[in-house]
Amino acid sequence: MNAQDSSVVSARNLCLTYETSDGPVHALSNVDLDIRKGEFVSFIGPSGCGKTTFLRVIADLEKKSSGTITVNGMTPEQAREKRAYGYVFQAAALYPWRTIEKNVALPLEIMGFSAAEKKKRIEQTLDLVNLTGFGKKYPWQLSGGMQQRASIARALAFDADLLLMDEPFGALDEIVRDHLNEQLLKLWKRTDKTICFVTHSIPEAVYLSTKIVVMSPRPGRVTDIIDSPLPLERPLDIRETPEFLEVAHRVREGLRSGHSDEA
Ligand code: ADP
Ligand code: MG
Repeated sequence: MNAQDSSVVSARNLCLTYETSDGPVHALSNVDLDIRKGEFVSFIGPSGCGKTTFLRVIADLEKKSSGTITVNGMTPEQAREKRAYGYVFQAAALYPWRTIEKNVALPLEIMGFSAAEKKKRIEQTLDLVNLTGFGKKYPWQLSGGMQQRASIARALAFDADLLLMDEPFGALDEIVRDHLNEQLLKLWKRTDKTICFVTHSIPEAVYLSTKIVVMSPRPGRVTDIIDSPLPLERPLDIRETPEFLEVAHRVREGLRSGHSDEA
């Protein structure tokens, strides 16, 4: 088995160029990346560096222009047909006319699960995100943080091994975000998922990740890949340790060097 087969996501010389009326936009340029099972990978970089585009290529919502990419050893299209991943968007994107449990049930309905199986999975996933007892509420009855947890439950409901999260906590205040970061780490450890997580926040990326992918725009590219030396056990105050600050420093340097390339 070669490296591409055993990776959850493997990209080689991956390029994606959007053709626009203003000319080509090089959203991804020669991206090389391997994501292994069980890793927590953050993508960090300024707006326009191709973070969302990369997740969308994994999810088969965009097509590469050249290079190769595999998802669970398959093409993104095959992986999509097998529902290899769950997707969590920046806004919770819950349907306001559906209760929380009906929102979580949506992918299960689409996949034709039995009523009993649906009930079981809804209970399990709401429990995983600490929303037991909130299934009958409507989204507007929940706080922003709870809504985002409900959208994570929905992405977890069909138990895909890969979770794609595009700035899921970007709109939340820092205290709520801290709390959700802690919960997400616990959930990741309990479920053994592979997570691809987009963020603008250096502390968030360093706190959560086993691997940090630093990106730069124009063209969108990877400028650094950091395998985190931090232990897996991470209380929030790990953020004050020298080891943490050292990784944060390297991320900051990577972001800065990406910027200095610009004319
Ligand atoms: P990020 O998520 O890092 O902010 P994106 O992946 O959204 O970056 O975008 C990367 C680049 O591609 C940006 O310059 C953006 O304007 C451009 N882009 C994204 N989507 C499209 C699209 N559908 N059509 C044309 N250009 C796009
Ligand atoms: Mg984006």
